[in-house]
Amino acid sequence: MSKIAVFPGSFDPITKGHEDIVKRSLPMFDKIIIAIGVNADKKYMFSLDERKEWISQTFRFEDKIEVSSYEGLTVNYCRKVGASYILRGLRNAEDFQFEKSIAQMNRELAPEVDSVFLVTHPEYAAYSSSIVRDILRNNGDVSKFIPSTIQLNDEF
Ligand code: ADP
Repeated sequence: MSKIAVFPGSFDPITKGHEDIVKRSLPMFDKIIIAIGVNADKKYMFSLDERKEWISQTFRFEDKIEVSSYEGLTVNYCRKVGASYILRGLRNAEDFQFEKSIAQMNRELAPEVDSVFLVTHPEYAAYSSSIVRDILRNNGDVSKFIPSTIQLNDEF
């Protein structure tokens, strides 16, 4: 049976932290679906198409990776695509506390889907999409924080 993982997130925008988690998990799975969760109540800086495009560009040479989006519960999306794993990254104790509760509740909703966590590389532990957005709003250079193949600053 092929091992399929969903890496859910907003990716608004993708950072080197996300890129690192995906690359390190490649040997563990047959397929990784990077899935942008669409929440109608949430305001995003970048459109769904832009976020998808940047993720696709980042992993354009990786056959195991698919980029997609979904609405609703992550576990329902996992069932739909036949994924048995949810992949998440942990940067700090706050991430851990939050992720632990979500994973435990997800397990009750869908016992056949397990959560897998990778601890962030120390170099990227401080990187977050929200800080990247703040830097962009203030006309700063974000090239250090995002995958080297994409250029967000051209947008601004
Ligand atoms: P969400 O809105 O679901 O938190 P994000 O796009 O912010 O979506 O994050 C998606 C996943 O990537 C989460 O598991 C998050 O903890 C992880 N992540 C975000 N930034 C980093 C980073 N710098 N290093 C490792 N993992 C990260």
